[in-house]
Formats: sequence, structure tokens, C-alpha cells
Amino acid sequence: MNIQNYINGDMCAAQLGAVLDNYNPASGKVYGTIPNSDAQDVSKAYEAAAAAFPTWSNTPAEERFKVMNAIAEGIDNLRDALALAESNDQGKPLWLAKNEMIRAAQNFRFFATAAMQFASESHAMENRAINYTLRTPIGVVGCISPWNLPLYLFTWKIAPALAAGNCVVAKPSEFTPVTAAMLGEICTAAGLPNGVLNIVHGLGATVGQAIVEHPNIKAISFTGGTATGKHISSVAGPMFKKVSLELGGKNPNIIFADADLDKAIKTTVNSSFMNQGEICLCGSRVFVERSVYGQVKDALVKAVSEMKVGDPLDPATRVGAIVSKPHYEKVLGYIALAKEEGATVLCGGTALHPEGLENGYYIAPTILEGLSASARCNMEEIFGPVISIMPFDTEEEVLAMANATDYGLAATVWTEHLTRAHRVAAQLQMGIVWVNCWLLRDLRTPFGGVKSSGVGREGGWEAMRFFTEPKNVCIAL
Ligand code: NAD
Repeated sequence: MNIQNYINGDMCAAQLGAVLDNYNPASGKVYGTIPNSDAQDVSKAYEAAAAAFPTWSNTPAEERFKVMNAIAEGIDNLRDALALAESNDQGKPLWLAKNEMIRAAQNFRFFATAAMQFASESHAMENRAINYTLRTPIGVVGCISPWNLPLYLFTWKIAPALAAGNCVVAKPSEFTPVTAAMLGEICTAAGLPNGVLNIVHGLGATVGQAIVEHPNIKAISFTGGTATGKHISSVAGPMFKKVSLELGGKNPNIIFADADLDKAIKTTVNSSFMNQGEICLCGSRVFVERSVYGQVKDALVKAVSEMKVGDPLDPATRVGAIVSKPHYEKVLGYIALAKEEGATVLCGGTALHPEGLENGYYIAPTILEGLSASARCNMEEIFGPVISIMPFDTEEEVLAMANATDYGLAATVWTEHLTRAHRVAAQLQMGIVWVNCWLLRDLRTPFGGVKSSGVGREGGWEAMRFFTEPKNVCIAL
């Protein structure tokens, strides 16, 4: 499939005509091309967005609501085709891609209703004055997303930006661009006016950089790696742009002896290895209270060893292909490093070559034991099907280990002890804490991390506030 940029409602090649190969990670083969765009294409997209802004920002919320709902419906109607495209592009099991397409539509539906509900605040000063705070759209904003949950995260940014009345220049990951291209077609069919959303494909260092550097793109919503986020901050900061950064994680999953262990083990298998462990929220450090450590470890090793790894299109597959060759090599490099750091591989630990897909990028789900809490493999984000399991004796000890990395995205806590649940949740230095569950999402809640996991929050009113500028008007009485 050869995809194109979506600018001003048109599908078009990069102005210089250059393309990049697009690989299917399940087979390791090139199966299409994407535009290798540059700053000229971003500039063209910006011009289209700027021209569309006066009308879109003055379009009644009810109209925006209708168009965004029509986009959601368009995603629903194409769910199977989108899921297949996403699975081919990213390597995730097809059944998982189908679930993610439900969420992509939900993102549009949720923020369509937010457009209708968003309101100005008012602060009365006794008999002296009344203040009202208008929240106006920013203008043209940039949305840059990663490869792990391609359409799910792309729409999670674009939907609130559009709901708040902005026009968008967006860039999906060069590794997983196909469903973003399909979204362009869906938007046109749904009646989104030309230029309101523009999608430019290509490399981060050219297209992404050009979006961040563009003097008139006033806000950047970015999800991706911490190093990229740091770079984006260094460019956007001196330009006084509004920036929202959703970055990496090294999430602790803490299992206390008083937990419902069956549920904790079952969920831990998912929270560790769903999407090949390539979800920023996956728990990669599993801490288990010593009295139940052996029991939990044995059950995890048994369940994980039985997970079917292979063809993403096979309904029985639990773990598909790693997104790209460089990432596959990076994950294998961490497994080798873990061994040097003294880890014992309890299961997995190797690349796999399923029959017929020998050149695809497959890694057996891997459980490591025996790493010190401060080992690099316990500190750095691996972002693959690799977890490290460690025993602990006290609440204080596990909190210290859980909080010891530079990251602070999400934690999971398993306990039936009510006061412990509250106490531990309060002390975890994370943006998100799940107790007795994982990835249970209410789209109204603030989403994001602390420390090196990011700046700002997405979701609900947080996203609507990010994509608007508040202006206070004070009227003396
Ligand atoms: P990445 O940082 O390499 O790329 C993310 C996006 O940024 C891509 O579209 C890329 O092309 C673009 N980019 C690269 N260089 C750029 C530059 N100089 N200027 C502007 N844009 C640039 O990340 P990735 O490898 O695609 O994604 C994996 C990372 O994303 C992991 O660290 C993961 O934890 C993180 N992630 C975080 C969340 C979250 O919500 N916190 C969600 C998903 C993924």
C-alpha cells in the first residue's frame, strides 16, 4: 500500500516526490511506501490549516459535534479494514487491533460531547466585579504520535484539538502510518472541512522537527520517547509554545501477599505482554511480597511459557511481532545486557522464527529474575516483551524500589487491604495508579506521567484546557 499526505482535503505526494519503504514486521518485508516529506510539506499543511481556522473556530459546537460523531461512525464502519492495516503495520495481533479501533472511534465520540459541554468559568467578587474566563482555540496546533498504539493515540490528540476549535498539522510515526492515512479519507467522507486536519508523513527528524520549529504552530502535543520529548522541549521552550509531553515509563507492578492472587497473576500476564509489551503503561518491574513470591513466580512462568507467539493474523496469537528491526535488536540487546547484569532467564529470552515468517521480528515473552533493583534493565525502558520479577519484604522497601527510576508514568498495586491501597497509592511517584486492575480507562480522568515520563495531562477537561487559551475578562460592577 502506497500512502500519501492528507493536506487541505487532498491526498498528495511529498512535494519533492521522495518516499520511504514501509515494512510489515510480521514478515520483515517491504509492503508499501510512505511520503518522505520535509519542511515544505509541513509549511503547505500549515497554510491549509491556517486558512481553515477562522471558519472552523467559529463553527458552532453542535456542528463540530456532528462532524466528529460522523468521523467516529466512519471509523466504526471501517473497523475490520483499519484493524487489518494496523496489525500489518505494527505487528500487533489482529484481535487486539480490533479492540483498539473501538477506542479510536470512542476518542472522537468522547471529545465530540466535550465540545458540547465545555464552558467558561465565572468568578464573582462580591459586589465589586464579575470575571469570566473565555477559553478560545489556540490556532494551528501540532500533534505527533508514536508507533505502539497508532490510531488510538493519534485520535486521542487530534479529537480534543478539533473539538476545542483548532486546526491541526499531525504526524503519525513513520513506522505505522497507514491507519492515519485512512483516517484522512474517513474525515473527508464525514464532512470535515478541508484543511481542518492535515496529516504529513515522514521522519521525525524532518517532518516532526519542522512541526515543532514552525513559528506559527503554537502548541505541540507529543507522545513518544523521553529523549525525543527532551529534544522537543529544547526547541519549543524558547519559542514559548505550549507543550504536552507523554513519554516513556518503567512501571512497577506491586503484588502484596494479601492480594487476590489469581486475578493479580492473570492480569499481570496481560499487563506485562499485551501488544508485545509495547504499551507505555505495561508493568515491566514486578515486585512480589516474599511469602507468595515462589507461588506467583511459578504461575507466571507457566502462563507466559504457554503464550502463543507468532502470526498476528492468527486468532490464537497472544504475542505478535516487534514493530521494527531496530526495535527488535534493541530489545534483544537488553536481554543480553540483563544476562551480563546477573539475571536468570526464567522463560523466553530468545528470538523466534515462526514457520513461513522466518524474517519477521519475534521475541519470546521473557521473565528475568535476580537483577538488582538498580540494574540498568530495571531502570531503563525496554518497551518489549521483557519483565523483571523481584521479591520484597516490606511496604517501605517496595515503595523505595518502585520510585527509584527516573520515570513516573503508571503503577499497579494488588492488595485487598483497603488502607494499604490508599497509603501506597499516595506514595507512588506516578501520574496513574491502578489498584486491583490495569488499563481500566475512564476518558474523563487525567492521563500522563511525572518525572521523565512527561509534562502535562491528556484526557477529559485537561485536554480541552491544553488546546485552548484562557482569557479572563474582569468587569467592574
Ligand atoms: P519516538 O520518540 O521515537 O517517536 C515518536 C514520534 O516522534 C514519531 O512520530 C517520530 O517520528 C517523532 N519524532 C522523532 N524525532 C522527532 C523530532 N526531532 N521532532 C519531532 N518529532 C520527532 O517514540 P516511539 O519509538 O515512536 O514510541 C515509543 C515511545 O513512546 C516509548 O518510550 C513509549 O513509552 C512512549 N509512549 C508513551 C505514551 C504515554 O502516553 N506516556 C504512550 C505511548 C508511547
